Amino acid sequence: MTVGIVGLGAAGLRAAMLFEQLGVDVQLFEARGRPGGRLHCVDEGGGTLYEAGGEWIDADHYRVLNLLNEFGMVPTTPSEWPKKLIFKGKECTEATIWNDALEDDLRVEAAARELCRQLTEPPWKNTQSRELDSHRLGDFVREHTQSERGLWYVNSKLRSDEGDDLEQVGLLGWLCGYLHYLDRDGDVMSAYRIPGGSRHLCEKILGSLKATPNFQKVLRRVHQDAYGVKLIFEDGEAQVDHLVLTMPPSALERVVFEPALSPKKRCSLEACEMSRAIKICWEFDHAWWHDLGWGGSMLCDGPLQQTWDGSLGEAPVLTAYICGEEAVRWMSLGDPVRAGLYELGKIFPIASQHFKRGWVHNWLTDPFSPGAFSHLAPGYVLEHMEHIAPPEGRIHFAGEHTALWSGFIEGALESAERVISEFTHK
Ligand SMILES: Cc1cc2nc3c(=O)[nH]c(=O)nc-3n(C[C@H](O)[C@H](O)[C@H](O)COP(=O)(O)OP(=O)(O)OC[C@H]3O[C@@H](n4cnc5c(N)ncnc54)[C@H](O)[C@@H]3O)c2cc1C
Repeated sequence: MTVGIVGLGAAGLRAAMLFEQLGVDVQLFEARGRPGGRLHCVDEGGGTLYEAGGEWIDADHYRVLNLLNEFGMVPTTPSEWPKKLIFKGKECTEATIWNDALEDDLRVEAAARELCRQLTEPPWKNTQSRELDSHRLGDFVREHTQSERGLWYVNSKLRSDEGDDLEQVGLLGWLCGYLHYLDRDGDVMSAYRIPGGSRHLCEKILGSLKATPNFQKVLRRVHQDAYGVKLIFEDGEAQVDHLVLTMPPSALERVVFEPALSPKKRCSLEACEMSRAIKICWEFDHAWWHDLGWGGSMLCDGPLQQTWDGSLGEAPVLTAYICGEEAVRWMSLGDPVRAGLYELGKIFPIASQHFKRGWVHNWLTDPFSPGAFSHLAPGYVLEHMEHIAPPEGRIHFAGEHTALWSGFIEGALESAERVISEFTHK
């Protein structure tokens, strides 16, 4: 049996590993000239290295941590927490957070915990919770906060996780993700990074495979019949017995299927929303933030939204992570790198003195991943979520958007395991 895997992001790479461990031959196809997909560790030369895509691993993302362990890679821990918080020109840190913001945060958490008590997994089984599914997370946060500062703080934290404005996110979907958080201890989120960057992990996985990847293979059409699946790329064709598609829904919608995918599958792909997130990365000749006794990590109420120390190599890099409408606005500017530096300079005037060069990574219009990662929009969970993962004939679907840990690297790995189980439990 030969299984074709299209997309060599975290899901495709992990699926390839697991199939080969079962003795299954795989053929690997990827549209880009590199593996990793939305894991994109950029090497700008001269010791400048940073993550343009997925970066943080939570302490309970056991699949990612086990995978690193399998390759003898020890995850690195950031030194910069707690975050600096800046609201209306006033500053504190997450450890010394303003009382009103803390109380609002605890209020939202308590309300979420209470609602979670009535929920089960998988999310689409919560048919009694139709009202929660149509409710927006943004409204829920507004309903449970009392101060302007608390509303801003909770919004900023959750927006960072969701990758988009909370008006875009459905309450039921978010609560089902929140179920994962209920048994967590304190410092679980964004606890680790991949040592040497995600490119290192991707290279290790590729190096462990028997199969040779085919890069720059853009899938355009898929024909399946009783005997197998034919893949038609921009240049060339391939024939396999079964196919695993790991591309994000927004990329999958551009592929023509013969026969067509079921209406339920097509609707679920169309309804699966991708978050709007960009990263601006600035390289400096000196990590000036250390001189200020600050680790680089910040949430602020200005247009930069969030920063952290993104350095992975020798060169000091500060990363701004901007989501939602604000990300769209930044990308309409002529020079987001300079405009961002200007905003940074308003808070830290010293920044521009040390600036060397910078880059913006726009996931909104990425040709092979239009959008950063999936979020569960209002109405999606009960109407569509159930239909996005199941196979259709010989075609199987993986990728973070098909997982319960959707949106995360962990979800991409979870989806690879689920696809393997579709073969082993036949
Ligand atoms: C800015 C940003 C920040 C993030 N931060 C975090 C974080 O801190 N922690 C975390 O856990 N996750 C984070 N994520 C999400 C995480 O990166 C993704 O969930 C995960 O990498 C998705 O893996 P995947 O294999 O499902 O999809 P992908 O990585 O998108 O892989 C799919 C592959 O399919 C390929 N492809 C697409 N179309 C075609 C085609 N027609 N033919 C052939 N190949 C095709 C793509 O090129 C891609 O390589 C972030 C993502 C972004 C963009």
